Amino acid sequence: MIAANDPALRSWVDVPAESDFPIQNLPFGIVRPADGEPRVAVRIGDMALDLAALHAAGLLNPAEFEAEDFATKSLNRILAKDKAAWRRLRDRVSTLLRHDNPSLRDNEQLRAACLLPVGELQMLMPVEVGDYTDFYSSIEHATNVGIMFRDPENALLPNWKHLPVGYHGRASSIIVSGQDVRRPVGQTRPNDSEPPQFGPTRLLDFELEMAFVTGAGKELGQRITSTEADDYIFGMVLFNDWSARDIQKWEYVPLGPFLAKSFASSISAWVVTLDALEPFRVAGPEQDPPVQPYLHTQGDKNIDIDLEVFIENEAFPAHRVSHSNFKYMYWNMAQQLTHQTVNGCNVRAGDMYASGTISGPTPDSYGSMLEITWRGSKPVDMPDGTQRKFINDHDTVIMRGTCRKGDVRIGFGEVRARVLPALEV
Ligand code: CA
Repeated sequence: MIAANDPALRSWVDVPAESDFPIQNLPFGIVRPADGEPRVAVRIGDMALDLAALHAAGLLNPAEFEAEDFATKSLNRILAKDKAAWRRLRDRVSTLLRHDNPSLRDNEQLRAACLLPVGELQMLMPVEVGDYTDFYSSIEHATNVGIMFRDPENALLPNWKHLPVGYHGRASSIIVSGQDVRRPVGQTRPNDSEPPQFGPTRLLDFELEMAFVTGAGKELGQRITSTEADDYIFGMVLFNDWSARDIQKWEYVPLGPFLAKSFASSISAWVVTLDALEPFRVAGPEQDPPVQPYLHTQGDKNIDIDLEVFIENEAFPAHRVSHSNFKYMYWNMAQQLTHQTVNGCNVRAGDMYASGTISGPTPDSYGSMLEITWRGSKPVDMPDGTQRKFINDHDTVIMRGTCRKGDVRIGFGEVRARVLPALEV
């Protein structure tokens, strides 16, 4: 077992009972104090441990890390190291935070300098994303979309069960939780017998996804095998793949998603390490027909992450519209990364790979308004008496993810973004 995951561990830092961030989690992020520069931090309870200050005090594996690895505006320098280094760093932080370790606990001055209340910090993008891929790996989602837009008898396209379908998305418009999203404008063609129109999207949607972040991969021309893949995955975030359904419908033929997706994707601010998620592994669905040998994986490769989506508005508090789980994924992350590199495509530190919309088997577990309202035919009631087919201006969409096993609960916090009205056309 990974030592830092021991369910018996306790911290001298006070952690509220239902916190996503006990000592068994220790996710990494980039924080900026009101009067300071960005730096790498680890979350515990309602506090952020400033690793730049901790390193300056000589408490963080000084032989392995430099000051520049922590006094910086992204996790990329840490990502560029390897899994063994990531593990030693998290182990070291875990040791310093253990209830019985006095080195930081009993150093009042250093503790005050290193332990910052998260409420007083600005959370920045944790990663400088180089390349971004979006997969399409939920069989329930792919089936629902196939039924709605193609043929209910042949909802899945012939390739779907043989390879993890994906496309290359826009990395530069991935934004951190808390940033507003502007309703996009673009071309649509609501009526096939009339010319296309131009204006704000009428069908703005979220997609409930998770994404993983990679470390430095292999050189161009090399492959990452399915048994190696997990060693290249640093951690995960919640991912809202904002989608303009009417723009998407008109533009996507024949090359796939473009402007309907590239206006924004929102991620949670704390990157939960794959190590911290290991205790929550579960078996994935049976893959039938059998996948090709290069996609074979051994053992439990899915992860039990309970996922929720809420809509919030000035008129009502957060109202849950979906309750899904990452464990439903047909294709696991190791298969996705293996497939990404099977042609020799290189992987770099800070690349991001989103899962695709995570829908479960029942309507209350669907991961997009497109599916929840079945193309708008079944509007959802909100607490203030209004209804939603898609997302309105001034709505805030919130996603949360938690893992529980025995007495241990870890989570991702949330990804939250409010929709602003379109700029004038
Ligand atoms: Ca997507």
